[in-house]
Amino acid sequence: MKLQSIQISGFKSFADRTVIECQDGLTGIVGPNGSGKSNVIEAIRWALGEQSAKQLRGHKMKDVIFSGSNDRRPLNRAEVSLVFDNADHYLPTDYSEVKITRRYYRNGDSTYLLNDQECLLREIQQLFLDTGLGEGSLSIISQGNVDDILAGDVEKRRAVIETAAGVYRYKKQKAESEKKLTETQANVDRVSDIAHELG
Ligand code: ATP
Repeated sequence: MKLQSIQISGFKSFADRTVIECQDGLTGIVGPNGSGKSNVIEAIRWALGEQSAKQLRGHKMKDVIFSGSNDRRPLNRAEVSLVFDNADHYLPTDYSEVKITRRYYRNGDSTYLLNDQECLLREIQQLFLDTGLGEGSLSIISQGNVDDILAGDVEKRRAVIETAAGVYRYKKQKAESEKKLTETQANVDRVSDIAHELG
């Protein structure tokens, strides 16, 4: 799997559609302070489903939409697409090229697309889980994260090690199963209450 291109439009400082092609080898993004380098990384994180505006240096999710400049009016929509070469089928899907897209409107409407077909955020999260790019992964470390990890408590550091070791996926599945068990137990209790009443 390889990130082939990043397509950004209306996201933070990228008012116009901007396409970054990642060539073979290492891709570096350089530019003066405030030119939008971190915004590119945040665009990747956002397209992969980041739900925390704080992780994207904002207060609300609508802060990711281009908010205007001296000579341009604010926009109503942010959109980011990531195209992955999946010839090696590292991502668990038959597609040899995978494109994920996230769209967000100022009124709060939101859409996720997988190869241009509308899908659920959960489907995207599932696709990237444990690939090194998924939710909670450590492949994107923002400037503040380093301090957070170093200054964090034992539990926080343990979570970092568990993520790196690939345990995160199982913990998440365990939490989901426990939730389902609790719900099922509540249903069983309810049925036995009703059976008791009918008695
Ligand atoms: P540095 O080298 O200082 O870390 P950088 O190149 O990483 O800077 P960013 O932090 O990515 O730069 O970009 C900051 C710029 O993005 C600021 O000029 C800020 O005004 C602009 N910006 C952030 N959010 C928005 C938004 N919603 N609309 C328009 N511009 C925005």
